[in-house]
Amino acid sequence: MAIRTIREIGDEALTKTCKEVTKMTLRTKILIEDMLETMYQANGVGLAAPQVGILKRIVVIDVGDGPIAMVNPEILETDGEQTGEEGCLSVPGKSGVVTRPNYVKARAFNEEMEEFEIEGEALLARAICHELEHLDGHLYVEKVEGELRDVNDYEEE
Ligand code: ZN
Repeated sequence: MAIRTIREIGDEALTKTCKEVTKMTLRTKILIEDMLETMYQANGVGLAAPQVGILKRIVVIDVGDGPIAMVNPEILETDGEQTGEEGCLSVPGKSGVVTRPNYVKARAFNEEMEEFEIEGEALLARAICHELEHLDGHLYVEKVEGELRDVNDYEEE
């Protein structure tokens, strides 16, 4: 396993539409392990493959309930609304207010390419929405209500 370099806003990789994973390979499994390690090391709750420069539809999330890897994820249902602070490892030192659904149901494949469904509320719903947008080349800063603000390191999510 290895820590990968997190691409920051302005990097082309963050503006691209990512490709579906058609087949699981050892290389892709290692990528998923590296993404988790990179996310934990940066104290993040989610990371998408384009954030480490790989244009594949893969995200990892851990909002405190253990690691979730989602390959080719798709949102099936959303409900409700939540408005709150959001940050991104690719936009270091900043946060902003974003309104997201409060409930999300999604479908994805795991590291064995087995299909699964996941339901999330609150932070998990927010993380799923945020990470999936990375796969289509979008950053949360496009959705911020008001100003992006500076945060101190210890406050960063
Ligand atoms: Zn992000």
